Amino acid sequence: MLYPFLIPDLPPAAEWMPRFEQAFSRRIFSNFGPLARELEGAIAERYALPGYAAISCCSATVGLAVVLLSLFKPGGRIALPNFTFAATYQAIRMANLVPVVVDIDPLTYELDVASLAATMKSTRIDGVMPVRPFGFVRDQTELVGFCRENDLRVVFDSAACLGGRTLPKFGSTFGEIEVFSLHATKSFGVGEGGVILCPTELEGDIRRRLNFGFHPDRTFDLGFNGKMDELHAAVGLSQMDRIDAIQGARAEHARRYDTFFGNDPDTQLPAAVNPGSGWTMYPVVFKNLDVALVAGRAAEFGIETRRYYWPSIVAGAREPVEQAVDLKTSDWVSQNVLCFPVYAGNAAHLVDGLFLAMEKLFPRRSAGF
Ligand SMILES: *Cc1c(COP(=O)(O)O)cnc(C)c1O
Repeated sequence: MLYPFLIPDLPPAAEWMPRFEQAFSRRIFSNFGPLARELEGAIAERYALPGYAAISCCSATVGLAVVLLSLFKPGGRIALPNFTFAATYQAIRMANLVPVVVDIDPLTYELDVASLAATMKSTRIDGVMPVRPFGFVRDQTELVGFCRENDLRVVFDSAACLGGRTLPKFGSTFGEIEVFSLHATKSFGVGEGGVILCPTELEGDIRRRLNFGFHPDRTFDLGFNGKMDELHAAVGLSQMDRIDAIQGARAEHARRYDTFFGNDPDTQLPAAVNPGSGWTMYPVVFKNLDVALVAGRAAEFGIETRRYYWPSIVAGAREPVEQAVDLKTSDWVSQNVLCFPVYAGNAAHLVDGLFLAMEKLFPRRSAGF
């Protein structure tokens, strides 16, 4: 495909190899070594409010599961949006908890607080795992306020969010937790990796559970091996120097989609979002066109697209999923959204050609509306 959906932009070996060499001289390759600690310090300083710690881990999925293990007893019931990536659901199941899906807002695609409140009228909910869909960073005061009032702990799946300098600092006095992915396909990519931002008082327990749940006397709680190794930490430290350039290029590419689709009444574009968001892809909801058809035609013009988050959780899980409310909005969005590629600087040379192909794909746009 001329315009692939994903073109990772990782730092070249020449940039991170000198950092990784330190691991050989120290003979420390994992277990929260000096490079992992340095990366955690840099991420906490850059992305979190004071009072929060950053903990490196091997993926967002494992990070989410470990945080849930630390916060909830087995059998706890966790609300999550029906419109999300499979990993949100899987992390809850891996932590011995019961996922309960709720509906989303039709414009932000985020968990709908009214749907959560309705769910709580008919079933017990012990915690909430909201998602920042597509890495979109928006104010969460309403949801966090609701959870504060109802004494519900909140763990955000913010997997695709790490981005540029206009991002607000994550965290609040409520103590919500945010989990990010450093997968190669995210803006802050290292290969495989993740970061947890949590209030400092939770740091010790979460870190322990990333290391088999071991206590100093070798007794153990439930845990994983979920640690980040020094090699990925070295790549992460180099990526830190490049993230503003990567994110800037991606945000600019996303703005071109905004302009391209303009105020086309047939499409729904991302609702207002902090421009520093991760921008790993650009989701377009087609109100009238069949998205499978659009995807097929896009491919004819060399544009690779993907359907996310499709199928929805209830439609995709090969096991029964608990729900207490109808899921109309998430079903509709999931059925009608198609994601277009968003490129970092290493693929910026493709962007003009991509938009020429877009004009062929949607000829009405080049003629204006
Ligand atoms: C990418 C992604 C994940 C998975 O992250 P990994 O680091 O690959 O485990 C989970 N949730 C969402 C919303 C994602 O976009």
